[in-house]
Amino acid sequence: MKKSAKHREFIKKAEKISFDEEHRRKIRFNISKYDQSVEKGQGELYKNIELARQRSGQIKYRVINELDKYLIEFENNFLRNGGKIIWAMDAEEALKEIMKIVKKHDVSSVVKSKSMTTEELELNPFLEKNSVEVTETDLGEFIVQQAGQRPYHIVTPAMHMSKEDVAALYNKKFETPADMPPEELTIYTRKLLRKKFMNADLGITGANFLIADTGSIALTENEGNGMLTMSFPKVHIAIAGIEKIIPRLEDLDLYWPLLSTHGTGQLMTVYNSIISGPRKENEKDGPEEMYLILLDNGRTNLLAQERQRQALSCIRCGACLNACPVYKNIGGHTYNTTYTGPIGSVIEPFLEDFKTYKHLSFASSLCGKCTTVCPVKIPLHELLLVNRDYAVRNGATSFLEKQGMKMATKALGSRTMMDMAKGKTKYTFAKMFGSKAWGPRREFPHIAEKSFSQQWKERNQE
Ligand code: SF4
Repeated sequence: MKKSAKHREFIKKAEKISFDEEHRRKIRFNISKYDQSVEKGQGELYKNIELARQRSGQIKYRVINELDKYLIEFENNFLRNGGKIIWAMDAEEALKEIMKIVKKHDVSSVVKSKSMTTEELELNPFLEKNSVEVTETDLGEFIVQQAGQRPYHIVTPAMHMSKEDVAALYNKKFETPADMPPEELTIYTRKLLRKKFMNADLGITGANFLIADTGSIALTENEGNGMLTMSFPKVHIAIAGIEKIIPRLEDLDLYWPLLSTHGTGQLMTVYNSIISGPRKENEKDGPEEMYLILLDNGRTNLLAQERQRQALSCIRCGACLNACPVYKNIGGHTYNTTYTGPIGSVIEPFLEDFKTYKHLSFASSLCGKCTTVCPVKIPLHELLLVNRDYAVRNGATSFLEKQGMKMATKALGSRTMMDMAKGKTKYTFAKMFGSKAWGPRREFPHIAEKSFSQQWKERNQE
């Protein structure tokens, strides 16, 4: 396959981190905790989890196929609630609009709750470059922000860090004791963040769901920081991908528990808010102005693909990442994309640039575990294959590779040609062309001296 610079970087990083025992230990430990609570949570809540998955998958897939209709319904209802909508084609347009709001309201400090959509925009460095202080208020996000890193995982941003790593980071950043226990680190962060909430001019959140029939956004979180982010400052900006729509308020009955049981194993996430526009005249809390940025940023490229568009049903629970043997070995940062793991490998080539990121669809063992755990029944491993097919049809392979494949197809399809050479000759030939792809760490498979068909013939003659 023709390799992009990102592909080469990916292989280099993956090669290094796969042999980092300490990294594997931390990930194994954290994912094993997750596995236990998911099994418990799903077992307690569902009599028939398959039925819940089927229903949720069907609803989301219908929405994706009629996205234009639902988006218009949502927009009309959101405007009626007093909110303002901004449609953004890409990250550049979204950032430009955010900057207009920042200037209009003379914003110098921003509090932000966890949102992968804002990661797509690289919002934090952009705001900082424009002299706006921005503080992540989700504990995991706050930790990776202090470490100067991207989130490692779409649900658990600091999954790759142990409690000792976090204590050492705080010691360096805030001069807290180097052996500070997690409870005290949390209290320290809480105090620090309270001040930020009190003084922020603008709150930025994502949105887990956009509810078409009420024109509301639904926010799900465990720390209450999302509620403070949207209600303390005078202005609230929510940023959401256009695929986040669900048709009716009642559908949350299905999606909220699916998200929590698949995301963390909780029966319900601790705080679930439904936000219908800014503060009304008779209300005490909430922002004076609320904007919603509806972001495309490559989603319509995905929508244009008849098979792969199903991946737009994703509710970002993170279950497929935790199930994936590749993710568990190479970790989140190796992907070098906003969305990682199986779902990232399916969607990122379309959200970014297919040629640059097509290699992600090949970074899979196709074991299918991701498909099994997905709460909205996205056939992830099949879509990875569809992406591979798309890559080949769109010129991903070099001239030599194509010729090699043609020759191999001809030879492997002909019994006479296959029996012309003996095992040793076949082995030498296969090794000459295939050893690079096979990699240096696996023993190249030996080929039997006589083929099965030769042995079968001989046996029957006997
Ligand atoms: S693809 Fe499915 S399992 Fe993976 S994050 Fe999305 S909803 Fe969860």
